[in-house]
Amino acid sequence: MIDRQRIETLAKQVVLPQKHLINGKHVGATDGGTLDVINPGNGQKLTTIADGTAADVNAAVVAAKSAFERGVWSRMPPAQRKKILLSFSDLVMAHQYELAVLGVRDNGTEIAMALKAEPASAASTIRFYAEAIDKVSGEVAPSAEGSLGLVLRQPVGVVGVIVPWNFPLMIAAWKIAPALAVGNSIVLKPAESASLSLIRLAELALEAGLPEGVLNVVTGQGSVTGEAMGLHPDIDVVAFTGSGVVGRKLLEYSAASNLKHIYLELGGKSPHIVFADTENLDRAAKAAANGIFRNSGQVCIAGSRLLVEEGVREELVEKIKTHAENYKVGDPLDVDTDIGAINSEQQLQKNLSFVRTALDEGANRVTGGARINEDSGGYYMAPTIFDNVAEDSRIAQEEVFGPMLSVMSFSDETQAVQLANSTNYGLAAGVWTSNLSRAHRMIQKVQSGVVHVNCYGGADITMPMGGLKQSGNGYDKSLHALDKYTALKSAWISLEN
Ligand code: NAD
Repeated sequence: MIDRQRIETLAKQVVLPQKHLINGKHVGATDGGTLDVINPGNGQKLTTIADGTAADVNAAVVAAKSAFERGVWSRMPPAQRKKILLSFSDLVMAHQYELAVLGVRDNGTEIAMALKAEPASAASTIRFYAEAIDKVSGEVAPSAEGSLGLVLRQPVGVVGVIVPWNFPLMIAAWKIAPALAVGNSIVLKPAESASLSLIRLAELALEAGLPEGVLNVVTGQGSVTGEAMGLHPDIDVVAFTGSGVVGRKLLEYSAASNLKHIYLELGGKSPHIVFADTENLDRAAKAAANGIFRNSGQVCIAGSRLLVEEGVREELVEKIKTHAENYKVGDPLDVDTDIGAINSEQQLQKNLSFVRTALDEGANRVTGGARINEDSGGYYMAPTIFDNVAEDSRIAQEEVFGPMLSVMSFSDETQAVQLANSTNYGLAAGVWTSNLSRAHRMIQKVQSGVVHVNCYGGADITMPMGGLKQSGNGYDKSLHALDKYTALKSAWISLEN
């Protein structure tokens, strides 16, 4: 049961953090620059954050590297690291309302979803990797008599973490927690429009006992601070979630600097595939609607293409339309809101330009397609459905990252697979069918990092998450994520006299 009173009180009282957190201290930008933070719920200025410079990034990297080399965290006994991360997880849960309110105020996600997907998810992620610390070992190789081969897992050093604005706590925790668990130091750069909850998260890590300099947060513009991180010679690994455009830049920065490893979690154009033999079309319709409209479609795995078998197309689209038109879209801090705000004016305009494109391309508007609640000053858009979308059109191929569903139909399984795989992306997919063999065939043939069967979303921390094709490389979540933050070192020991 969500505590409404607490949310209302916190919305008035919560302290908005404004500065970087470097080496355990709050500091402003070296040149004094600030960026305005806009509340997307009403379009008004909420506060400012430090507009970081390359010098600020350097200060954070120096702090992280020094902490790493001094061994205050990297050589701390694993059991002690575990204890600190467990208490970090507990503190995140104890502050869940504060973190959720902070996050919602600058990113616009509906609070009911934010409470689950943000602090609660971050806390369980931190706990998962804390518990892994004393269970992941190196290896003894099966070498011949006379020699001994050891494979050691070592932390990589300084990890740069760059995250987007849609689920800042959840996504940052997927990277920070495994990187910290194995002993690395971190420089974290939040998105310009979702920094507040991440600064607070790092404060809680300090409170839990994480030594100063191990987790540093630098806010500011991606083109300045993000670029400086990508080019920095003392950052060993960058773990990134965001757009393919920026992902490509990071690969260039790496090539132009120290060949740091770049791990990318990028966008998607995920197919939600519904066969006519689906047992419960109502459930499929609800999942399809939630899968594209919650958080205003600002979800990397959003099921933005509905591929439906011809026989049930009309019925299914009608059911999804009913959901779309019944959502309560509005104030992100209202517990009864189903869909909050678009993150920024710029993103809202981008979404609306996709509506114009869809109409120009000849798609049929089923519902939505316009800005709503404009009187509030906030950035809201009606859940939007386009039918008769052509396979090669822009709204079938490009990620909108907004509440917009493109509907296409198929006549058989072969065509469903062909349509599903017809974009450059490969992040997620959903398949609805009551035929078990078909479900398994689809799991094998659909090119995506995850295939949901008779559901959409909800895979927990035990499952890896990553994209195929241009949706990225590397994996967040699960024990596989530890591979990104550890280097394997081989030791070959002669046992001869
Ligand atoms: P974005 O790429 O614009 O920004 C992401 C981060 O990169 C931000 O912190 C930004 O400041 C920073 N950045 C911007 N320019 C940079 C540069 N030149 N160098 C380094 N860093 C720079 O993405 P966004 O608009 O914040 O987020 C939306 C995108 O993120 C969508 O494509 C979405 O699909 C993707 N996403 C993917 C996943 C996933 O797990 N695969 C999860 C969430 C979001």
